[in-house]
Amino acid sequence: MLTIEFIDIYIDNIRYKNDYCYIGEKMELSNQVDQIFSLQKNYHSILKNTDYSYRISKLQDFKKAIIENQIEIENALLEDFSKARVETNLTEILPVISMINNYSKNLKKWMKRKYIYSGPLFFGTKSSISFQAKGNCLVISPWNYPFQLAIYPLLTAFSAGNNVILKPSEFTPATNRIIIKLINLVFKPEEVSVIEGAVEASNLLLEKPFNHIFFTGSTPVGKVIMEKASKHLASVALELGGKSPVILDDKYSIEKAAMNIAWGKHVNSGQTCVAPDYVFVHTKNKIEFVERYIESIEQMYGQNFETNPDYCKIISSKHAERLKKMINEAIEKGAILEYGGELYSNGKLQPTLLTSVTDDMSIMKEEIFGPVLPIFEYTELDEVVSYINKNDNPLALYVYSNSKDFQNKFLELTTSGGINFNESLLHVGNPKLPFGGAGKSGIGRYHDHYGFEEMSNIRSVMHRKFNSGLRFFYPPYSSLKKRIVDEILKRFSFFL
Ligand code: NAD
Repeated sequence: MLTIEFIDIYIDNIRYKNDYCYIGEKMELSNQVDQIFSLQKNYHSILKNTDYSYRISKLQDFKKAIIENQIEIENALLEDFSKARVETNLTEILPVISMINNYSKNLKKWMKRKYIYSGPLFFGTKSSISFQAKGNCLVISPWNYPFQLAIYPLLTAFSAGNNVILKPSEFTPATNRIIIKLINLVFKPEEVSVIEGAVEASNLLLEKPFNHIFFTGSTPVGKVIMEKASKHLASVALELGGKSPVILDDKYSIEKAAMNIAWGKHVNSGQTCVAPDYVFVHTKNKIEFVERYIESIEQMYGQNFETNPDYCKIISSKHAERLKKMINEAIEKGAILEYGGELYSNGKLQPTLLTSVTDDMSIMKEEIFGPVLPIFEYTELDEVVSYINKNDNPLALYVYSNSKDFQNKFLELTTSGGINFNESLLHVGNPKLPFGGAGKSGIGRYHDHYGFEEMSNIRSVMHRKFNSGLRFFYPPYSSLKKRIVDEILKRFSFFL
């Protein structure tokens, strides 16, 4: 393992020799990408051998930098999409701080080589599993939780010993500025760097032979990333989106469910990958649900959404207009607007509730990603299960029921990245639970040791300690050897 002093001397040497430029100086994007990539590549052999104390010290420095710049982070999200300060603290800063605490506590244990029992067939050998950094890692992040979803994977990758280039979303320039400031305070560019830009920047980066690409974003872009990664056979983690359904048992409290769904739907104004997308309500509870849902919204936000500072706006006019178009199209095709529907001039969209929706409406075909909730009615639970199964696997599935049978139906008969009973969103916040999708909602997992492993090359290590007589089984295969092998196979089959 390398000491911090040695790393500093090494870095000074490369600086001296390469005379490279930092991000921020006027330089063509493609030159920036070339220089930063080769700088990090040259440095990787140093970073991958750093010990846990070096990595944890960086995590702790980052935590200190966050705390010292908390107001600036809040201001940035306020500037980018009017996100309430409390919500920034709860959904952007807190998850990162709790990740840092968890990693600082456990990284030493996770990095340790794990010895495993070799079994009688491998008598005389010692087997273990070691965790090695994958190498050069690219993190591409989205705009919807622009701080958390850039920093969480970045720190995870660094903790596993990887160099990281982060490409944040082009829609959040203020948040990107504070991210760059914090990264420059804590990391050397050889360790972590940021390249800003839209698709052009992603494309230049994706030309490079990264060892691992961690992408968070939409499913269509996820496919592009995977295709480009295949050129260099880079491993990928794709944290994608999709439609996350909600199912209400007719015996569950409609009041409780409506309040919890309304909260999950309006945090970040519904611009959350695991936001409840649409709800299945038993026909007999529909009217009550509509009333309770509207009451819940007004309890949290009042009636003046346009000026309410707790209610954030839609990230851009393009995104807001997409939502407005979806609502209008649904109404034209026969949906009933039970509440809301207004897009204000400041970019906020009124919470919106639609009933009588059908499958041919875009609102039921695309991930909504905004404060619009369509309601489906059901009478038979099997119809609900088959509807969910005929569509892409959701990132999250929400079931409101106290009945074990009802819960098990969804646990056993459906597939999703996560499933949450009687609660929305919170499973993602628990730093001990793995987070990721299934099928079209994503590939790979992070949070806790799942993230550390995702970013590591999990290496099999075997040592021959003493001779076990295995050479006896080398060719030529005599009839005696054949009989012994048959006997071993018979005994093993019996035990298995
Ligand atoms: P997006 O896919 O449009 O963009 C994500 C990132 O990819 C951005 O940095 C963007 O610049 C880049 N990008 C866009 N087009 C690209 C292309 N053609 N080639 C290469 N890079 C490209 O997603 P978004 O609009 O920023 O975020 C919303 C989506 O992300 C939703 O679908 C949401 O469900 C999903 N999401 C998933 C998670 C998760 O953890 N599973 C979390 C947040 C958001």
